[in-house]
Amino acid sequence: AKALGKNRMVRYVPGMAEAAQCEADLLQDLAAATRSGQLEVHYQPTIDLADGRTTGYEALVRWRHPGRGLVPPAEFIPQAEASGLVVEIGRWVLERAVSQAAAWTAETGRPIGIAVNLSPRQLSDDDVVTVVARVLADTGLPAGQLTLEVTEGVLLRDVDEAVGRLAALRALGVRIAIDDFGTGYSSMAYLRRLPADVLKIDRSFVQDLGSDGRSTTLVASMIELARSLGLEVVAEGVETPQQHAVLGDLACSHAQGYLFGRPLPAPAHDPVGDMPSGA
Ligand code: C2E
Ligand code: CA
Ligand code: CA
Ligand code: CA
Repeated sequence: AKALGKNRMVRYVPGMAEAAQCEADLLQDLAAATRSGQLEVHYQPTIDLADGRTTGYEALVRWRHPGRGLVPPAEFIPQAEASGLVVEIGRWVLERAVSQAAAWTAETGRPIGIAVNLSPRQLSDDDVVTVVARVLADTGLPAGQLTLEVTEGVLLRDVDEAVGRLAALRALGVRIAIDDFGTGYSSMAYLRRLPADVLKIDRSFVQDLGSDGRSTTLVASMIELARSLGLEVVAEGVETPQQHAVLGDLACSHAQGYLFGRPLPAPAHDPVGDMPSGA
């Protein structure tokens, strides 16, 4: 409960009149924060629904602001994306997260996976493939344990460039996940164009599982679609035992959500303790 209090997030939302100045201040503060160690990476487990074990973690960035407390990414990633600062932030998150996964792997003797969000701006950075290759080499994490999560936003820039970059990342052995699946304007086009290994079903669909027949049918279809395309599927935002049960009935392979674990700093997780007794 203590950790939860400490990690509770606050909003960084100005009134309309102050918005422009506040935006400039925020970017300046964020640039400084990036260099002075105010950013943190929190980790949320991904569960294998067949046996309930943690297979890996998603890295989620937070800003430990001296005056405002823990600021969630929704309050600064969009601005960082627009200004280009996200390239620097994302590189830092990647380094932190991959070395944490390497440490957990060494500690547990199990291949702990790590998923890192890659924004459109980061994917269009010319150095991205080199940076990912270097981070893997520096940490010794096998490439197959790293998943890079992208959203439809990567196709709104240069489509051929995005597809080429993702193919180059995959050639390193890294896995690509399509994040927030189902929320975009052209999810099917996106599925057709993007080279991918994992499909993450957006929380908005998972939320209504069991209570709304239409959502349940849609999730069942997405799971089937993923299976036919040979993609692993992760259901996002599982909060209730009922949602968990329905996903089990639909033979969904993996899930993430508050029911299994909230995003927390690395020391709050015990990957060794996730081993079921007798294993
Ligand atoms: P996302 O990649 O879709 O991440 C999942 C979000 O859902 C996270 O919010 C997570 O805390 C939240 N979540 C997980 N399980 C549950 C649940 O059971 N219920 C509910 N209500 N929420 C749940 P968070 O950490 O605030 O991140 C929001 C978004 O910010 C992320 O969405 C991602 O788009 C972006 N983001 C976070 N970290 C990074 C990063 O390092 N780089 C980039 N480019 N974007 C990031
Ligand atoms: Ca994600
Ligand atoms: Ca998502
Ligand atoms: Ca999302």
